[in-house]
Amino acid sequence: MALSNCPECNGNVSDAARTCPHCGYPLMAFHQAHPTIPPLLSLVLPGSGQVLKGQTFMGLFFLFITVVFYLLFLPAGMLIHFLSIIDAAWVDPAKGRLRKS
Ligand SMILES: [Zn+2]
Repeated sequence: MALSNCPECNGNVSDAARTCPHCGYPLMAFHQAHPTIPPLLSLVLPGSGQVLKGQTFMGLFFLFITVVFYLLFLPAGMLIHFLSIIDAAWVDPAKGRLRKS
């Protein structure tokens, strides 16, 4: 388990910590601390999970193509919708960090 420095108070914190034990600074993005939220959002509204993760363009893209495919061909729309949920569930640990030490 590696140690890094808190960007707020510069104290030593574990890489596995979600918040700084010294000052309470959130070391993980919201979607990393709550990895089930983005896929649930994408289940309700395709692309919204991506928007929560900061991938606004990807979210709008998924929303657009899911609606288009639902209108054109229902099974294809369901497939794209499912893919948007899978994509939202995928958390990249390197990209979600608020700041890299
Ligand atoms: Zn701190």
